[in-house]
Amino acid sequence: MSLLNVNNLTVSIEDDENLKEILHGVNIEIKKGETHVLMGPNGAGKSTLGYALMGNPRYVANSGEIIFDGKNIIDESADKRAKAGMFLSFQNPLEVPGLPLSSFIRNAVESVSGKRVKMMQFKKDLAKNMEVLNMDSEYANRALNVGFSGGEKKKAEILQLLMLSPKLAILDETDSGLDVDATEKISEMLAELTKETRAAFLVITHNMRVLKHLSVDKVLILKDGKIVRTGGDELIREVETEGFQNL
Ligand code: ADP
Ligand code: MG
Repeated sequence: MSLLNVNNLTVSIEDDENLKEILHGVNIEIKKGETHVLMGPNGAGKSTLGYALMGNPRYVANSGEIIFDGKNIIDESADKRAKAGMFLSFQNPLEVPGLPLSSFIRNAVESVSGKRVKMMQFKKDLAKNMEVLNMDSEYANRALNVGFSGGEKKKAEILQLLMLSPKLAILDETDSGLDVDATEKISEMLAELTKETRAAFLVITHNMRVLKHLSVDKVLILKDGKIVRTGGDELIREVETEGFQNL
């Protein structure tokens, strides 16, 4: 059964009061539990697609449909989409002085589930997942992303993902700025996650290394706001050897 169906989606960004069209009719279908990889040159519109799927109000969907879990959510707010089971991890996570990581995640869990979470259970789950990520427990009390290294910010994003257990996780360059070892680790963790949860993934990346441990169902190449190629994981190797030029 299909979890996400994006049909002929066009998206514009407000730029000095003018609307600039960035995505020109994008089609995507992701079934439950599938992992799709979205690649493409800088400025292709990959992040725009992530924001538009998540419902960021700056990214205006002019036409088309976004069917998520059987419902057209194109007019729904970002928090409704999160409640429905969508998650977007940011390319550049925000730093929020004064807001402890654990409070941030607890708010997110309560807002997404619409239920109060019991403190004891929450702390237990958080500690367990932080251990999985090999994060020092003191990070729970530190201000969100403030003074975190690149790798720690990415881990904080993945911690949210683990705690929220969404139906669809969109990961926008979760590997950017990471060293080789951290990237390898993230790749292993994502592979583990895709096996353990039944979540679907849309992994936006330039980095072959982050895909190493993942079993990829489909690869999409976005160029100038259009999907120009789709294929299996052989396309990853093609991009690796040929670049995006000839695609
Ligand atoms: P990618 O993630 O593939 O590198 P983006 O989605 O970030 O590409 O950007 C696609 C295009 O949209 C680029 O030309 C970029 O300059 C433009 N763009 C993205 N965000 C904004 C914004 N907030 N305001 C104006 N233009 C933007
Ligand atoms: Mg981007």
